[in-house]
Amino acid sequence: MDIHEYQGKEILSSYGVKVQRGHVANNAQEAVAMAKQLTAETGTGWHVIKAQVHAGGRGKGGGVKLAKNLQQVEELAEQIIGMQLITPQTPPEGKKVHKVLIAEDVYYPGESQTEEFYMSVLLNRGKGRNMIMYSTEGGMDIEEVAEKTPHLIFTEEIDPAVGLQGFQVRRIAFNLGLSGAAFKEMTQFVPALYNAYIGCDATMFEINPVLKTSDNKIIAVDAKVNLDDNALYRHPKYAEMRDIREENAIEVEAKAAGLNYVDLDGTVGCMVNGAGLAMATMDLIKYAGYEPANFLDVGGTADAKRVETAFRIILKDPNVRAILINIFGGIVRCDRVAQGVIDAYKNMGDSIKVPIIVRLQGTNAELAKEMIDNSGMPILSATLFQEAADQVKVALS
Ligand code: GDP
Ligand code: MN
Repeated sequence: MDIHEYQGKEILSSYGVKVQRGHVANNAQEAVAMAKQLTAETGTGWHVIKAQVHAGGRGKGGGVKLAKNLQQVEELAEQIIGMQLITPQTPPEGKKVHKVLIAEDVYYPGESQTEEFYMSVLLNRGKGRNMIMYSTEGGMDIEEVAEKTPHLIFTEEIDPAVGLQGFQVRRIAFNLGLSGAAFKEMTQFVPALYNAYIGCDATMFEINPVLKTSDNKIIAVDAKVNLDDNALYRHPKYAEMRDIREENAIEVEAKAAGLNYVDLDGTVGCMVNGAGLAMATMDLIKYAGYEPANFLDVGGTADAKRVETAFRIILKDPNVRAILINIFGGIVRCDRVAQGVIDAYKNMGDSIKVPIIVRLQGTNAELAKEMIDNSGMPILSATLFQEAADQVKVALS
């Protein structure tokens, strides 16, 4: 689960990580009130207005702006809230901004004496260990740094048996070119960040930039955080941070229905039981020259109700031009699935306007095919994988 920058900073703060302070606002009036409050708390006169959406690159897209007085706070908040923010990480149409973070300006005074670093904590799946990735080249696209100047990216792997070690922390501060007070600050910042990552069962904490201020403080200016969905039950407080407005609406609905659905860009909807078969089916669609519209694993109990729900969810995607159902009947018998498809089709009547290709294999497959073929409904049946692909071609040509 992704969370917003302001929520990530709340978590960091609770673990003792110094962050750029701020308050969230839903409209321009609130923005001004929050700016006033922040001035009272921190003494800052300048504020940064930051769009809160689940995507990075906001600065480039015009979602992060500096306000030098309250009137500018109001104007910029007015401008940013409600905008459709387009960044390299949003869908092409952008993301609607519902909230802004009013943050203290931490670059002033003495912007020339500040330094921006990159730091993230994440799981290295290849090594099966957490690692800290960091670079002197913060503030910019880390992907670009990785491509053009990979020697400027450092990593520190953490041995799960002993945890993050003091010498590793000092090596990080040293490699970032720090000394004196800033060095010391960094040796406090890194363990606190790592504790936050471990403590909330995150899969990623990315802080870009980590800022060295002109008075040698080390603070998190940004926070991109992903929490492990499978561990959220241990953190009801963080689970409440979910903002479903930021998530794909069809995926949210599928999840509520207990279906494993991932929205994709293609035109062939798929309904499959088992994640492996679902992946193979997507390959099959690609071999046939098309692109899958989704990944959908209906699970082991593909009864009529479930098939119907799956149909409804697939059809919410306006790009779907055909649906391929590929079910292997092991414990669930093919004839029951076939009945499910037929019943769902009957129930849904006119709402299905695209061709449907059904491939059932396994227990009672022949009977299932007969049922489909004799149903009098415009459902195409197939027995072999290849036949199903050919049927998709025929249906879409
Ligand atoms: P992102 O573009 O989505 O990664 O958003 P960030 O939170 O990283 O902000 C983008 C950029 O805005 C940063 O790289 C900074 O250069 C700039 N920025 C952030 N906070 C401040 C601030 O307090 N003062 C000034 N002058 N610039 C800031
Ligand atoms: Mn950033």
